[in-house]
Amino acid sequence: MTETSAPSVAAEDTEHVDFDVEGMTCAACATRVERALNNVPGVIEARVNLALERADVVFERELSALEHLTAAVDRAGYRVRPAAEASVRQAQDQARLDSERRTLVVSATLTAPLLIGMGLNTLGYEDLHVMPVGEVLLATPIQFLIGLRFYRGAFNALRAGAANMDVLVALGTTAAYCYSWYLLRTLGEEADGRLYFEASAVIITLVLLGKHMENRAKRSAAAALQALLALRPDTGCVLRADGTEIEVPAEQLREGDLVLVRPGGRVPVDGEVVEGASEVDESLVSGESAPVPKQAGDAVTGGSVNGFGLLKVRATTVGEASTLARIARLVADAQAGKASVQRLVDRVSAVFVPSVLAFAALTFVAWLVVSGNFEQALIAAVAVLVIACPCALGLATPTAILTGTGAAAQAGILIRDIEVLEQAHRIDAIVFDKTGTLTEGRPRVLAVHGARGADPEATLRWAAAVQQGSEHPLAKAILAHAAERNLALEPVRSFQAVPGRGAEGSVAGRHVAVGNGGFIGERAQVDADIQALAQQREAAGETVVFVAADDALLGVITLADPPRSNAAQAVQMLQALHVSPTLLSGDAPGVAERIGRELGLPTARGGMSPEAKARAVQELAAAGHVVGMVGDGVNDAPALAAADVGIAMGSGTDIAMATAGVTLMRPDPRLVAAAVAASRATFRKIRQNLFWAFIYNVVCIPLAAIGYLSPTLAAAAMALSSVSVVCNSLLLRGWRPNLAAQNA
Ligand code: ADP
Ligand code: MG
Repeated sequence: MTETSAPSVAAEDTEHVDFDVEGMTCAACATRVERALNNVPGVIEARVNLALERADVVFERELSALEHLTAAVDRAGYRVRPAAEASVRQAQDQARLDSERRTLVVSATLTAPLLIGMGLNTLGYEDLHVMPVGEVLLATPIQFLIGLRFYRGAFNALRAGAANMDVLVALGTTAAYCYSWYLLRTLGEEADGRLYFEASAVIITLVLLGKHMENRAKRSAAAALQALLALRPDTGCVLRADGTEIEVPAEQLREGDLVLVRPGGRVPVDGEVVEGASEVDESLVSGESAPVPKQAGDAVTGGSVNGFGLLKVRATTVGEASTLARIARLVADAQAGKASVQRLVDRVSAVFVPSVLAFAALTFVAWLVVSGNFEQALIAAVAVLVIACPCALGLATPTAILTGTGAAAQAGILIRDIEVLEQAHRIDAIVFDKTGTLTEGRPRVLAVHGARGADPEATLRWAAAVQQGSEHPLAKAILAHAAERNLALEPVRSFQAVPGRGAEGSVAGRHVAVGNGGFIGERAQVDADIQALAQQREAAGETVVFVAADDALLGVITLADPPRSNAAQAVQMLQALHVSPTLLSGDAPGVAERIGRELGLPTARGGMSPEAKARAVQELAAAGHVVGMVGDGVNDAPALAAADVGIAMGSGTDIAMATAGVTLMRPDPRLVAAAVAASRATFRKIRQNLFWAFIYNVVCIPLAAIGYLSPTLAAAAMALSSVSVVCNSLLLRGWRPNLAAQNA
């Protein structure tokens, strides 16, 4: 398949475009456009999303060009439109919905007398219904003016050598219409009461109604993402060097610009506060609506809403690289992809329409042979054609994914792509890293003990000096503690961090090492009294950092990193989902066990190096589990990569940079459980939708074939099946993570 050729092409030689495709009416169309694009030489991968009406193509720059893609779509019978800006697209969609509604009203108005006439006829009031000439006058504009789109769609499809739902509708209604004409011409007034004009009119009106409701629903499904993009302010107020203020369009803002954010205004860029203090609402990027205090030095994110203070912000990231643009891109990419179920559905629907045509022909012949009644044979065949439209099938998966990922994003859960979504709903084991995920990740120094009567302050000074080279949270805590004491620190040279174990370097001519018991034990003799002290503190859940200089133990520093307030609840939530949580930590076994007990974790293992964590994840996978790994990304990369789904817990602006499968926009471990729940809810919807789409066809096609379903009823059933599928997906919009405390 095309995917396998992808890695052989270097990223810089490829180009990525997305554009809107007009004229697709069902899954068969989307499959055809996709195939047409994939057949263009140089195309590496093309994906077409029916719900978004969008194509997403990666191609080799040397071998192909946009013109070739456009031409291929054209030949397949559809049109390319450049992917519109969110706001433009919104306006276009609205205009299209309005015109659809007008057409629908006209169509329904013309159909109503026909339908009422038919109703009265069956009730016995035969004199009151519309005269045959009247029927012709009402049905003809519906058939050929309003129904023109079906002929056009069918023509395009047939020209490209394929069949789609337009072919079914056009063929079915034309057959009913022409047969009625034939009766009218041969029987004259005698034909009264035997005509099928109302059937074709009703079919067209109902298919239009179904399409219209579907389009409205599709639009609200995509609305979450559009809302996100719409929140980017259009302009920013730049403070010039001479002190004047000037309002410039957001896309003209540059890195380094000083931007003024007034109370109540939206922050137009990612940046750093240089002056002023305020509280901002970052719910857009974090899903958390509690205002966050900001003052000079703090980072702010574009799109967040300023509170009551005036902020002067220096722009750090602008345009496509900004957090908001990345989040929007991430969500859009996720939604543009295709689930493997969808690929299956596409293959099915590609052969579905031709099969239906064949089956309708068979129905017609069988009736003719068995009953010899041309009229019955024709009507049964028409009913088969109409009921079998696979539109519901085409919408089942993409609408659910659209609403599911949208709702998750609003809750602060970003799912990278559909493969991740597919894996995530099967997760039954979650591995947590301790520091920063289950704990606050902001440890505090509790005490410093000198070994063999050494001065605790000297121990702290040596330790802090080495830690100047480290990014580790423990290093920051030790440095902060030293700073509080106003200790002057020697610089550190040839610094070396040993992930998951410690760090070392040379300070004032001595070789100084800090780290866990194992790390220091290899370098210095640890006395029994210090050993006992360490064990006792670790059993109490405290982290003990050992300090040694030139093979001699200087002492230990004990630190506390309290569990996050909702960590225990996160564990309960996972267990309620039948996902078994595990804690793997590089900290001492005693600490891991203590935290594990405190949070109710069934398994907690300490003393694990980053490699050991990765191996443990692989073992879980080998035992048949689908494993999610949650880390803060500092030194968990191997384990994150080994897991089926890597879950990065972000905070602030780094969230959008994460390449993990799932990115949580705020550091709340409960969102881990929520992410699993969201993907499960989405897949449940997909399954329900596919069931409903299939069951209509499976039950109704035979009914139509044996003549139990009139063409009119078939049209109603078909419209209903699309609408029910889309509405079922829309129910997902109301999905919210259940973060309320569950008291057992
Ligand atoms: P976790 O698995 O809890 O996230 P890490 O893998 O980041 O922990 O670190 C594991 C252990 O390694 C820490 O508990 C600490 O004992 C030791 N360690 C790592 N880096 C440092 C450092 N810079 N200073 C002191 N100790 C460190
Ligand atoms: Mg860590």
